[in-house]
Amino acid sequence: MAADYTIRNATIIDGSGREGFPGDVSIDGDVMAAVGEGLDAAVEIDGQGMVVAPGFIDTHSHDDGAFVRYPGMEFKLAQGVTTDVSGNCGFSAAPNVPGETPPGGGALRFPGPWHDLAEYFDACLAEKPAINNLMLIGHNTVRGWVMGNEQREATAAELAQMRAHIERGMEQGACGFSTGLIYEPGRYSDTSEVTALAGVAGQYGGIYATHMRNEGDYLLESVDEALGIGRAAGCGVHISHHKASGPKNHGRCRESLALIDRAVDEGHDVTLDVYPYIAGSGPMHQYFRLDNIGLELAEAIRIASCPDRREWEGRMLSDIAEAEGLSLEDAVREAITGPRGKETICIQFTMHEDDVETNLQHPRVMVGSDGIPNLNGAPHPRLYGTFPRVLGNYVRERGVLPLTEAIRKMTSLPCERFGIPDRGYVREGLVADLVVFDPREVIDLATWDEPKREPAGIRKVFVSGALAYDDGEHTGAGTGKMLRYRAG
Ligand SMILES: [Zn+2]
Repeated sequence: MAADYTIRNATIIDGSGREGFPGDVSIDGDVMAAVGEGLDAAVEIDGQGMVVAPGFIDTHSHDDGAFVRYPGMEFKLAQGVTTDVSGNCGFSAAPNVPGETPPGGGALRFPGPWHDLAEYFDACLAEKPAINNLMLIGHNTVRGWVMGNEQREATAAELAQMRAHIERGMEQGACGFSTGLIYEPGRYSDTSEVTALAGVAGQYGGIYATHMRNEGDYLLESVDEALGIGRAAGCGVHISHHKASGPKNHGRCRESLALIDRAVDEGHDVTLDVYPYIAGSGPMHQYFRLDNIGLELAEAIRIASCPDRREWEGRMLSDIAEAEGLSLEDAVREAITGPRGKETICIQFTMHEDDVETNLQHPRVMVGSDGIPNLNGAPHPRLYGTFPRVLGNYVRERGVLPLTEAIRKMTSLPCERFGIPDRGYVREGLVADLVVFDPREVIDLATWDEPKREPAGIRKVFVSGALAYDDGEHTGAGTGKMLRYRAG
Protein backbone atom coordinates (compact mmCIF):
# COMPACT_ATOMS: atom_id res chain seq x y z
CA MET A 1 0.00 0.00 0.00
CA ALA A 2 1.32 3.39 -0.93
CA ALA A 3 1.01 6.55 1.13
CA ASP A 4 -0.28 9.85 -0.27
CA TYR A 5 2.86 11.86 0.45
CA THR A 6 6.36 11.06 1.62
CA ILE A 7 8.76 13.85 2.57
CA ARG A 8 12.24 12.37 2.11
CA ASN A 9 15.57 13.07 3.81
CA ALA A 10 14.45 15.96 5.97
CA THR A 11 15.45 16.89 9.50
CA ILE A 12 12.56 15.89 11.73
CA ILE A 13 12.04 18.16 14.73
CA ASP A 14 9.27 16.28 16.41
CA GLY A 15 7.92 18.93 18.80
CA SER A 16 9.00 17.23 22.02
CA GLY A 17 12.06 19.46 22.39
CA ARG A 18 14.52 16.70 21.54
CA GLU A 19 17.20 17.16 18.90
CA GLY A 20 16.24 16.92 15.28
CA PHE A 21 17.02 13.67 13.45
CA PRO A 22 17.24 12.77 9.76
CA GLY A 23 14.40 10.83 8.22
CA ASP A 24 11.22 10.69 6.15
CA VAL A 25 7.62 11.40 7.03
CA SER A 26 4.78 9.65 5.20
CA ILE A 27 1.21 10.88 5.17
CA ASP A 28 -1.72 8.61 4.40
CA GLY A 29 -5.22 10.03 4.59
CA ASP A 30 -5.27 12.46 7.46
CA VAL A 31 -2.56 10.84 9.60
CA MET A 32 1.17 10.28 9.66
CA ALA A 33 1.64 6.72 8.45
CA ALA A 34 5.41 6.50 8.99
CA VAL A 35 8.10 8.60 10.67
CA GLY A 36 11.77 7.74 10.14
CA GLU A 37 11.72 5.40 7.19
CA GLY A 38 9.18 6.54 4.63
CA LEU A 39 6.71 4.48 2.62
CA ASP A 40 6.33 4.50 -1.15
CA ALA A 41 4.03 7.37 -1.92
CA ALA A 42 1.97 8.82 -4.74
CA VAL A 43 3.80 12.13 -4.22
CA GLU A 44 7.44 12.19 -3.14
CA ILE A 45 8.78 15.46 -1.74
CA ASP A 46 12.50 16.15 -1.50
CA GLY A 47 13.09 17.34 2.06
CA GLN A 48 16.86 17.78 1.76
CA GLY A 49 17.93 20.75 3.91
CA MET A 50 14.38 21.19 5.21
CA VAL A 51 12.91 20.79 8.67
CA VAL A 52 9.65 18.90 9.14
CA ALA A 53 7.83 19.94 12.30
CA PRO A 54 4.30 19.68 13.67
CA GLY A 55 2.01 22.46 12.42
CA PHE A 56 2.25 25.49 14.68
CA ILE A 57 -0.42 26.34 17.24
CA ASP A 58 -1.25 30.03 17.55
CA THR A 59 -2.15 30.05 21.24
CA HIS A 60 -3.46 33.58 21.14
CA SER A 61 -5.65 34.50 18.22
CA HIS A 62 -8.59 36.81 17.63
CA ASP A 63 -9.64 34.93 14.51
CA ASP A 64 -13.16 33.98 15.64
CA GLY A 65 -14.67 36.15 12.89
CA ALA A 66 -11.90 35.47 10.40
CA PHE A 67 -12.89 31.80 10.12
CA VAL A 68 -16.08 33.04 8.49
CA ARG A 69 -14.81 36.21 6.77
CA TYR A 70 -11.42 34.95 5.56
CA PRO A 71 -11.67 31.14 5.64
CA GLY A 72 -8.46 30.84 3.58
CA MET A 73 -6.69 32.18 6.69
CA GLU A 74 -3.71 33.06 4.47
CA PHE A 75 -2.07 35.23 7.12
CA LYS A 76 -1.79 32.24 9.45
CA LEU A 77 -1.36 29.34 7.06
CA ALA A 78 1.62 30.98 5.32
CA GLN A 79 3.37 31.09 8.72
CA GLY A 80 2.98 27.35 9.21
CA VAL A 81 0.11 27.78 11.66
CA THR A 82 -2.36 24.88 11.47
CA THR A 83 -4.40 25.58 14.63
CA ASP A 84 -5.65 28.77 16.27
CA VAL A 85 -6.83 29.16 19.82
CA SER A 86 -9.51 31.86 19.48
CA GLY A 87 -11.86 33.61 21.87
CA ASN A 88 -9.07 35.41 23.70
CA CYS A 89 -8.99 38.50 25.90
CA GLY A 90 -12.59 37.95 26.94
CA PHE A 91 -14.03 38.34 23.43
CA SER A 92 -15.48 35.25 21.75
CA ALA A 93 -17.81 34.61 18.84
CA ALA A 94 -20.05 32.56 21.12
CA PRO A 95 -22.41 33.03 22.81
CA ASN A 96 -24.09 35.39 20.37
CA VAL A 97 -27.43 37.04 19.68
CA PRO A 98 -27.84 37.31 15.90
CA GLY A 99 -28.47 40.83 14.67
CA GLU A 100 -27.55 42.49 17.96
CA THR A 101 -24.35 44.11 19.12
CA PRO A 102 -22.97 43.59 22.61
CA PRO A 103 -21.26 46.50 24.36
CA GLY A 104 -17.46 46.68 24.47
CA GLY A 105 -15.33 44.91 21.97
CA GLY A 106 -15.38 47.48 19.21
CA ALA A 107 -12.99 46.06 16.66
CA LEU A 108 -13.01 42.71 18.48
CA ARG A 109 -16.67 41.95 17.83
CA PHE A 110 -17.61 38.90 15.79
CA PRO A 111 -21.16 39.28 14.50
CA GLY A 112 -22.83 36.31 12.88
CA PRO A 113 -26.05 34.31 12.64
CA TRP A 114 -25.16 31.74 15.32
CA HIS A 115 -26.30 31.50 18.95
CA ASP A 116 -23.84 29.17 20.63
CA LEU A 117 -20.51 27.47 20.08
CA ALA A 118 -21.94 24.48 18.23
CA GLU A 119 -23.72 26.74 15.73
CA TYR A 120 -20.62 28.90 15.37
CA PHE A 121 -18.53 25.80 14.62
CA ASP A 122 -21.06 24.76 11.95
CA ALA A 123 -20.91 28.23 10.38
CA CYS A 124 -17.11 28.04 10.25
CA LEU A 125 -17.05 24.54 8.79
CA ALA A 126 -19.50 25.59 6.08
CA GLU A 127 -16.78 27.96 4.81
CA LYS A 128 -14.19 25.16 4.60
CA PRO A 129 -11.51 26.92 6.63
CA ALA A 130 -7.84 26.34 5.86
CA ILE A 131 -6.79 25.70 9.46
CA ASN A 132 -8.18 24.35 12.72
CA ASN A 133 -9.84 26.39 15.44
CA LEU A 134 -10.17 25.78 19.18
CA MET A 135 -12.23 28.18 21.27
CA LEU A 136 -12.32 29.89 24.63
CA ILE A 137 -15.53 31.44 25.94
CA GLY A 138 -14.97 35.11 26.65
CA HIS A 139 -15.99 36.97 29.79
CA ASN A 140 -16.55 40.33 28.06
CA THR A 141 -18.87 38.67 25.58
CA VAL A 142 -20.84 36.78 28.19
CA ARG A 143 -21.07 39.75 30.57
CA GLY A 144 -22.04 42.05 27.73
CA TRP A 145 -24.97 39.85 26.71
CA VAL A 146 -26.17 39.36 30.28
CA MET A 147 -25.49 42.79 31.83
CA GLY A 148 -24.82 45.22 29.01
CA ASN A 149 -22.20 47.75 29.98
CA GLU A 150 -23.31 47.97 33.62
CA GLN A 151 -20.53 49.31 35.83
CA ARG A 152 -21.33 47.25 38.90
CA GLU A 153 -21.13 43.81 40.46
CA ALA A 154 -23.24 41.05 38.98
CA THR A 155 -26.35 39.99 40.88
CA ALA A 156 -26.79 36.33 41.79
CA ALA A 157 -29.25 35.93 38.91
CA GLU A 158 -26.86 37.51 36.41
CA LEU A 159 -24.02 35.37 37.65
CA ALA A 160 -26.17 32.28 37.13
CA GLN A 161 -26.93 33.35 33.56
CA MET A 162 -23.24 33.93 32.83
CA ARG A 163 -22.38 30.55 34.30
CA ALA A 164 -24.96 28.90 32.08
CA HIS A 165 -23.40 30.43 28.95
CA ILE A 166 -19.96 29.16 29.93
CA GLU A 167 -21.32 25.74 30.83
CA ARG A 168 -22.94 25.46 27.42
CA GLY A 169 -19.68 26.49 25.75
CA MET A 170 -17.70 23.94 27.72
CA GLU A 171 -20.28 21.22 26.90
CA GLN A 172 -19.85 22.09 23.22
CA GLY A 173 -16.07 21.81 23.24
CA ALA A 174 -14.54 25.08 24.47
CA CYS A 175 -11.14 24.69 26.11
CA GLY A 176 -11.77 27.23 28.82
CA PHE A 177 -12.78 30.71 29.88
CA SER A 178 -10.95 33.89 28.91
CA THR A 179 -10.91 37.37 30.39
CA GLY A 180 -9.77 40.77 29.18
CA LEU A 181 -9.96 42.66 32.45
CA ILE A 182 -8.50 45.82 30.99
CA TYR A 183 -11.49 46.10 28.64
CA GLU A 184 -15.12 47.07 28.95
CA PRO A 185 -17.28 45.50 30.23
CA GLY A 186 -15.04 42.95 32.00
CA ARG A 187 -13.14 45.64 33.86
CA TYR A 188 -16.26 46.32 35.94
CA SER A 189 -16.18 42.82 37.41
CA ASP A 190 -14.51 41.99 40.70
CA THR A 191 -12.26 39.04 41.44
CA SER A 192 -15.07 36.98 42.96
CA GLU A 193 -17.16 37.17 39.78
CA VAL A 194 -14.23 36.04 37.64
CA THR A 195 -13.45 33.26 40.10
CA ALA A 196 -17.02 31.99 40.03
CA LEU A 197 -17.04 31.94 36.22
CA ALA A 198 -13.58 30.41 35.86
CA GLY A 199 -14.81 27.72 38.24
CA VAL A 200 -17.24 26.55 35.56
CA ALA A 201 -14.34 25.96 33.16
CA GLY A 202 -12.52 24.23 36.02
CA GLN A 203 -15.40 21.78 36.49
CA TYR A 204 -14.83 20.60 32.93
CA GLY A 205 -11.05 20.43 33.32
CA GLY A 206 -10.71 23.58 31.22
CA ILE A 207 -8.40 26.51 31.76
CA TYR A 208 -8.57 30.15 32.74
CA ALA A 209 -6.82 32.34 30.13
CA THR A 210 -6.40 35.96 31.04
CA HIS A 211 -5.46 39.30 29.59
CA MET A 212 -4.82 40.64 33.06
CA ARG A 213 -6.27 43.75 34.67
CA ASN A 214 -2.96 45.58 34.33
CA GLU A 215 0.27 44.86 32.44
CA GLY A 216 2.18 47.95 33.55
CA ASP A 217 2.50 49.55 36.98
CA TYR A 218 0.38 46.81 38.59
CA LEU A 219 1.75 43.83 36.71
CA LEU A 220 2.69 41.83 39.80
CA GLU A 221 -0.62 42.53 41.55
CA SER A 222 -2.39 41.35 38.40
CA VAL A 223 -0.37 38.14 38.28
CA ASP A 224 -1.34 37.58 41.92
CA GLU A 225 -4.99 38.06 41.06
CA ALA A 226 -4.75 35.59 38.17
CA LEU A 227 -2.98 32.97 40.29
CA GLY A 228 -5.52 33.42 43.07
CA ILE A 229 -8.40 32.97 40.65
CA GLY A 230 -6.86 29.74 39.35
CA ARG A 231 -6.39 28.40 42.88
CA ALA A 232 -9.89 29.26 44.04
CA ALA A 233 -11.54 28.15 40.80
CA GLY A 234 -9.59 24.90 40.61
CA CYS A 235 -8.28 25.41 37.12
CA GLY A 236 -5.03 25.95 35.32
CA VAL A 237 -4.06 29.55 34.56
CA HIS A 238 -2.77 30.76 31.21
CA ILE A 239 -1.47 34.34 31.15
CA SER A 240 -1.96 35.95 27.75
CA HIS A 241 0.68 38.04 25.96
CA HIS A 242 2.88 38.38 29.03
CA LYS A 243 4.58 41.77 29.02
CA ALA A 244 5.81 44.69 31.11
CA SER A 245 4.27 47.80 29.62
CA GLY A 246 5.52 51.37 29.99
CA PRO A 247 9.14 52.57 30.26
CA LYS A 248 9.34 52.45 34.04
CA ASN A 249 8.24 48.80 34.07
CA HIS A 250 10.67 47.52 31.48
CA GLY A 251 12.60 44.50 32.74
CA ARG A 252 9.89 43.46 35.17
CA CYS A 253 8.88 40.32 33.29
CA ARG A 254 11.67 38.68 35.28
CA GLU A 255 9.89 39.47 38.55
CA SER A 256 6.60 38.37 37.18
CA LEU A 257 8.01 35.06 35.92
CA ALA A 258 9.65 34.53 39.32
CA LEU A 259 6.21 34.81 40.93
CA ILE A 260 4.89 32.27 38.46
CA ASP A 261 7.85 29.91 39.03
CA ARG A 262 7.14 30.00 42.75
CA ALA A 263 3.47 29.16 42.16
CA VAL A 264 4.47 26.28 39.87
CA ASP A 265 6.89 25.00 42.53
CA GLU A 266 3.97 25.02 44.96
CA GLY A 267 2.02 22.79 42.58
CA HIS A 268 0.01 25.29 40.55
CA ASP A 269 -0.59 24.84 36.90
CA VAL A 270 0.47 28.02 35.06
CA THR A 271 1.51 28.76 31.48
CA LEU A 272 1.85 31.89 29.36
CA ASP A 273 2.17 33.16 25.81
CA VAL A 274 4.10 35.98 24.18
CA TYR A 275 4.32 37.66 20.78
CA PRO A 276 7.76 38.56 19.44
CA TYR A 277 7.32 42.34 19.14
CA ILE A 278 7.74 45.38 21.38
CA ALA A 279 4.36 46.83 20.42
CA GLY A 280 0.86 45.69 21.27
CA SER A 281 -2.38 46.42 19.43
CA GLY A 282 -6.06 46.62 20.22
CA PRO A 283 -9.30 48.61 20.08
CA MET A 284 -8.09 52.16 20.75
CA HIS A 285 -11.20 53.46 22.53
CA GLN A 286 -10.61 50.90 25.26
CA TYR A 287 -7.26 52.44 26.22
CA PHE A 288 -8.32 56.04 26.82
CA ARG A 289 -10.63 57.93 29.15
CA LEU A 290 -11.92 60.98 27.33
CA ASP A 291 -11.86 63.05 30.52
CA ASN A 292 -8.23 62.23 31.22
CA ILE A 293 -6.30 61.27 28.09
CA GLY A 294 -2.98 59.58 28.89
CA LEU A 295 -0.31 61.42 26.91
CA GLU A 296 2.50 58.93 27.49
CA LEU A 297 0.42 56.27 25.75
CA ALA A 298 -0.78 58.67 23.06
CA GLU A 299 2.85 59.45 22.17
CA ALA A 300 3.50 55.72 21.65
CA ILE A 301 0.58 55.11 19.30
CA ARG A 302 0.43 54.33 15.62
CA ILE A 303 -2.93 53.97 13.88
CA ALA A 304 -3.58 50.53 12.38
CA SER A 305 -7.21 50.91 11.21
CA CYS A 306 -9.42 53.97 11.39
CA PRO A 307 -12.58 53.73 9.25
CA ASP A 308 -13.38 57.41 9.82
CA ARG A 309 -9.91 58.64 8.81
CA ARG A 310 -8.36 56.11 6.45
CA GLU A 311 -5.56 58.57 5.68
CA TRP A 312 -4.35 58.19 9.28
CA GLU A 313 -3.70 54.46 8.92
CA GLY A 314 -0.06 53.41 9.19
CA ARG A 315 1.02 56.70 10.82
CA MET A 316 2.17 57.69 14.31
CA LEU A 317 -0.49 59.69 16.11
CA SER A 318 2.05 62.38 17.06
CA ASP A 319 2.91 62.90 13.37
CA ILE A 320 -0.77 63.07 12.49
CA ALA A 321 -1.39 65.65 15.23
CA GLU A 322 1.50 67.79 14.03
CA ALA A 323 0.49 67.59 10.39
CA GLU A 324 -3.14 68.46 11.16
CA GLY A 325 -2.36 71.15 13.72
CA LEU A 326 -4.14 69.20 16.47
CA SER A 327 -3.12 68.71 20.07
CA LEU A 328 -2.32 65.09 20.87
CA GLU A 329 -5.44 64.92 23.05
CA ASP A 330 -7.60 66.12 20.19
CA ALA A 331 -6.02 63.60 17.83
CA VAL A 332 -6.94 60.81 20.28
CA ARG A 333 -10.50 62.17 20.52
CA GLU A 334 -10.83 62.42 16.77
CA ALA A 335 -9.60 58.85 16.29
CA ILE A 336 -12.07 57.25 18.70
CA THR A 337 -15.20 59.40 18.80
CA GLY A 338 -16.23 59.52 15.14
CA PRO A 339 -19.22 57.54 13.81
CA ARG A 340 -17.06 54.38 13.58
CA GLY A 341 -14.60 55.42 16.29
CA LYS A 342 -15.00 52.17 18.19
CA GLU A 343 -13.58 50.30 15.22
CA THR A 344 -10.28 52.18 15.39
CA ILE A 345 -7.39 49.85 16.11
CA CYS A 346 -4.10 51.23 17.37
CA ILE A 347 -0.60 49.87 17.78
CA GLN A 348 1.20 50.96 20.93
CA PHE A 349 4.99 50.83 21.33
CA THR A 350 5.20 50.26 25.06
CA MET A 351 7.51 47.29 25.61
CA HIS A 352 11.22 46.49 25.77
CA GLU A 353 13.13 43.90 23.77
CA ASP A 354 14.72 42.44 26.93
CA ASP A 355 11.31 41.39 28.21
CA VAL A 356 10.43 39.73 24.90
CA GLU A 357 13.65 37.70 25.12
CA THR A 358 13.11 36.85 28.80
CA ASN A 359 9.69 35.51 27.89
CA LEU A 360 10.91 33.48 24.93
CA GLN A 361 13.56 31.84 27.11
CA HIS A 362 11.13 30.71 29.80
CA PRO A 363 10.09 27.05 29.51
CA ARG A 364 6.40 27.70 30.24
CA VAL A 365 5.97 30.46 27.67
CA MET A 366 4.37 29.60 24.31
CA VAL A 367 4.01 31.67 21.16
CA GLY A 368 0.78 33.51 20.37
CA SER A 369 0.35 36.14 17.68
CA ASP A 370 -2.48 38.21 19.21
CA GLY A 371 -2.98 39.28 15.59
CA ILE A 372 -6.16 41.22 14.84
CA PRO A 373 -7.43 40.12 11.41
CA ASN A 374 -8.70 43.47 10.24
CA LEU A 375 -7.13 43.51 6.80
CA ASN A 376 -8.12 47.09 6.06
CA GLY A 377 -5.45 49.58 6.94
CA ALA A 378 -2.06 48.68 8.35
CA PRO A 379 -2.47 45.92 10.95
CA HIS A 380 0.23 45.01 13.46
CA PRO A 381 2.68 42.80 11.49
CA ARG A 382 2.35 40.04 14.08
CA LEU A 383 -0.74 38.90 12.17
CA TYR A 384 1.48 37.75 9.29
CA GLY A 385 4.89 37.40 10.90
CA THR A 386 4.89 35.98 14.43
CA PHE A 387 6.05 32.39 13.94
CA PRO A 388 8.69 32.91 11.23
CA ARG A 389 9.96 35.90 13.22
CA VAL A 390 10.63 33.69 16.24
CA LEU A 391 12.36 31.10 14.05
CA GLY A 392 14.35 33.54 11.91
CA ASN A 393 15.08 36.51 14.10
CA TYR A 394 15.13 35.09 17.63
CA VAL A 395 16.45 31.58 16.91
CA ARG A 396 18.73 31.82 13.87
CA GLU A 397 19.95 35.40 13.85
CA ARG A 398 20.15 36.19 17.53
CA GLY A 399 20.40 32.80 19.26
CA VAL A 400 17.89 33.74 21.96
CA LEU A 401 16.62 30.15 22.14
CA PRO A 402 17.38 26.85 20.37
CA LEU A 403 15.31 25.83 17.34
CA THR A 404 14.06 22.64 19.01
CA GLU A 405 12.82 24.63 21.99
CA ALA A 406 11.11 27.22 19.79
CA ILE A 407 9.31 24.42 17.96
CA ARG A 408 8.25 22.83 21.27
CA LYS A 409 6.72 26.17 22.31
CA MET A 410 4.77 26.25 19.05
CA THR A 411 3.58 22.62 19.07
CA SER A 412 3.59 20.04 21.88
CA LEU A 413 3.52 22.55 24.74
CA PRO A 414 0.31 24.25 23.54
CA CYS A 415 -1.26 20.92 22.52
CA GLU A 416 -0.71 19.58 26.05
CA ARG A 417 -2.01 22.82 27.53
CA PHE A 418 -5.06 23.32 25.36
CA GLY A 419 -6.23 19.71 25.26
CA ILE A 420 -5.30 18.68 21.71
CA PRO A 421 -3.99 15.13 22.21
CA ASP A 422 -3.89 14.03 18.57
CA ARG A 423 -1.59 16.83 17.37
CA GLY A 424 1.59 18.65 18.36
CA TYR A 425 4.20 15.95 17.64
CA VAL A 426 5.63 14.34 14.54
CA ARG A 427 4.60 10.83 15.45
CA GLU A 428 3.08 7.89 13.63
CA GLY A 429 -0.68 7.77 14.01
CA LEU A 430 -1.16 11.44 14.91
CA VAL A 431 -3.05 13.83 12.64
CA ALA A 432 -0.83 15.00 9.79
CA ASP A 433 -0.75 18.72 10.58
CA LEU A 434 2.79 19.47 9.44
CA VAL A 435 5.03 22.29 8.31
CA VAL A 436 8.08 21.94 6.08
CA PHE A 437 10.44 24.92 6.25
CA ASP A 438 13.96 25.95 5.34
CA PRO A 439 15.75 26.79 8.61
CA ARG A 440 18.33 28.90 6.74
CA GLU A 441 15.71 31.10 5.12
CA VAL A 442 12.69 31.24 7.37
CA ILE A 443 11.95 34.85 8.34
CA ASP A 444 9.05 37.26 8.70
CA LEU A 445 8.72 39.88 5.97
CA ALA A 446 5.78 41.81 7.46
CA THR A 447 6.94 45.19 8.71
CA TRP A 448 5.28 48.23 10.27
CA ASP A 449 5.13 49.86 6.85
CA GLU A 450 4.32 46.71 4.89
CA PRO A 451 2.47 44.59 7.42
CA LYS A 452 0.61 42.24 5.08
CA ARG A 453 3.57 40.41 3.56
CA GLU A 454 3.73 36.65 3.92
CA PRO A 455 6.98 35.25 5.35
CA ALA A 456 9.86 33.56 3.55
CA GLY A 457 11.14 30.03 4.02
CA ILE A 458 7.87 28.21 4.75
CA ARG A 459 7.69 25.59 1.98
CA LYS A 460 4.72 23.36 2.66
CA VAL A 461 1.94 23.15 5.18
CA PHE A 462 -0.29 20.12 5.59
CA VAL A 463 -3.61 20.30 7.43
CA SER A 464 -5.20 16.92 8.25
CA GLY A 465 -3.01 15.34 5.59
CA ALA A 466 -4.00 17.74 2.80
CA LEU A 467 -1.42 20.02 1.20
CA ALA A 468 -2.81 23.44 2.13
CA TYR A 469 0.20 25.64 1.33
CA ASP A 470 2.72 24.81 -1.35
CA ASP A 471 5.74 27.05 -1.95
CA GLY A 472 3.88 30.32 -1.70
CA GLU A 473 0.60 29.04 -3.10
CA HIS A 474 -2.56 28.63 -1.04
CA THR A 475 -4.15 25.50 -2.47
CA GLY A 476 -7.64 26.01 -1.00
CA ALA A 477 -7.65 22.53 0.53
CA GLY A 478 -10.11 23.71 3.18
CA THR A 479 -9.48 20.84 5.59
CA GLY A 480 -9.47 22.84 8.85
CA LYS A 481 -11.43 21.34 11.76
CA MET A 482 -13.24 22.79 14.71
CA LEU A 483 -11.42 21.14 17.61
CA ARG A 484 -13.14 20.11 20.79
CA TYR A 485 -11.21 20.31 24.01
CA ARG A 486 -10.15 17.03 25.53
CA ALA A 487 -9.02 17.33 29.12
CA GLY A 488 -5.73 15.51 29.78
ZN1 LIG B 1 -5.31 40.77 25.09
